[in-house]
Amino acid sequence: MKVRIFDTTLRDGEQTIGVSLSPDQKLSIAKKLDELGVDVIEAGFPVISDGEAKAVKMITSEGLSCEIAGLTRTIKSDIDAAVDAGLNYIHTFIATSDIHLQYKLQMTRDQALQKAIDAVEYGKSRGLQVEFSAEDATRTDREFLNKVFSEVAKAGADRIDIPDTVGYATPEYIADITRDAINATKLPVSVHCHNDFGLAVANALSGIHAGASCAHVTINGIGERAGNASLEELSMALQCLPQDQKYETNIKSKLIYDTSRYISKIIGIKVQPNKAIVGDNAFGHESGIHTHGVLNNPLTYEPISPELVGRTRILRIGKHAGIHGMNAMLDEFGVKTNEEQSKQILEKIKFLGDQGKQITDVELLSIASDVLGETGIKRIVQLSGFSVSTGIGIMPYAFVKLNIDGEDFIGTDYGVGPVDAALNAIQKITGKVSELKITDYGLASISGGSTALCEVTITVEDPHGNSVSAKSIGEDIVTTSVKAVIDGINRIMLKKMLKEKQIK
Ligand code: MN
Repeated sequence: MKVRIFDTTLRDGEQTIGVSLSPDQKLSIAKKLDELGVDVIEAGFPVISDGEAKAVKMITSEGLSCEIAGLTRTIKSDIDAAVDAGLNYIHTFIATSDIHLQYKLQMTRDQALQKAIDAVEYGKSRGLQVEFSAEDATRTDREFLNKVFSEVAKAGADRIDIPDTVGYATPEYIADITRDAINATKLPVSVHCHNDFGLAVANALSGIHAGASCAHVTINGIGERAGNASLEELSMALQCLPQDQKYETNIKSKLIYDTSRYISKIIGIKVQPNKAIVGDNAFGHESGIHTHGVLNNPLTYEPISPELVGRTRILRIGKHAGIHGMNAMLDEFGVKTNEEQSKQILEKIKFLGDQGKQITDVELLSIASDVLGETGIKRIVQLSGFSVSTGIGIMPYAFVKLNIDGEDFIGTDYGVGPVDAALNAIQKITGKVSELKITDYGLASISGGSTALCEVTITVEDPHGNSVSAKSIGEDIVTTSVKAVIDGINRIMLKKMLKEKQIK
């Protein structure tokens, strides 16, 4: 069965505390969601502000291939605002639970029902596709909920949505009222589940198993309070878990990780490391037993392959590591060590582990390269030479010559200062070779005076999210910065180069 994915990152997701997006940001997210393959984007709530109406209008004018919906209350002017924003699909809602009716709307059940019917009829009269939500459905009297749904269906609603507004449902209850709604309306039913008890995805899945054909979801599960059902978790659960029947979505799963990171950056909310599918640790393994198992057969500790969602496996090694697992990891990169060298590497790792550090495979290779020396693993990137010019009245300029794996490269660039110019020139070269980026740069002075030593710490990241830090100490800020960056680049390229050798 095909399940329709209704993405509300730009509406419910934007209602996350501290999140407010400009129209341009909303448009760029909408494009990304369209590429990901969502069926519907809920672009916003047009009536709330001019900026919101403008954002929705920009999105409806973009010619995206997915459907675009907008939120409205059961109020004529809301629906008019939606039409003005270029929408031909509304998601209109009114609360139906007694607690909302009494304390928020100060309405009787009958009054709310009448508003719902009027809004649906008005929306249809304006030529719109109308999806009706009974807000707080899961705390609404079950018989009254059925009555509301069947009446709005008679009034012409195209779709019914069951919002678990405060995440109060159990999977069993969502399934029950989903079946009720289908029986009462014979319309396509959506479920809109919140995560107040951590059950949003389980509830959405249960609604779908009971016959719902659509789920409202957000990227990274963002949304009011504890958030909404997350798109990445629900779509992968539908696709991968054993269920009574086969489910499919139009989501291009390989784009999931990229989309998650893109949106997390724009909205400024980091994903928790242990978040399913998209968290930093979701495909990471550290303990010796797990690492060993995964290296023998990934299915031992990975329910799905990380490539399926556009990721790569991250092996970490720390104080839980055994010599066997460590050697297996080194072996994976074609690095051979004798017993003494293995011991030395593991000692360094355990030492760092006891200081509370986690060691990535990139760092493991770098430690191994220190222990094995030039004969073991050679440095791929060698600095052949560089010069910078700086002063007043001219743009600081750098010339850098690198040798990468036997091939010479020259890079030149300007910068705000000599360090910036040098790093830009280096990035020009390495960007071409392997899309490396310097993501962090820190400078500290160790002692006072004009002959003070400086300490430069940098972080280099590759396109797969592998990152590594390197540090260098010296007297000259520019030279020290260049050395730190070259060191960082060597560390991160080691993994890539050794992998390529293995494939050859
Ligand atoms: Mn909601």
